Amino acid sequence: MGWIYLLCSCAACGAPIHVNIEKCPSIRIGGTGPREPICINCFNRWNEIHRTSKGLEPVPLDPQAYEPLNEQDMWDGSDTENTSA
Ligand SMILES: [Zn+2]
Repeated sequence: MGWIYLLCSCAACGAPIHVNIEKCPSIRIGGTGPREPICINCFNRWNEIHRTSKGLEPVPLDPQAYEPLNEQDMWDGSDTENTSA
């Protein structure tokens, strides 16, 4: 059994981060393309701009967002997203 981290740069500020790819908050740069992970500071800033400043409840951060992913959770066969030809 092992654990998996994704080491990357925050899509918003460029800070080096490690994330749980299944749980971390992410954004689409320019509103299109794949979602890319963001750091906790940018997530909190996003919540301020898009949620709390408008009187909305903040989007909760998954407590596992920046914790390692158990490899069994990644390779359990439940991901059917890429099975179509
Ligand atoms: Zn950031």
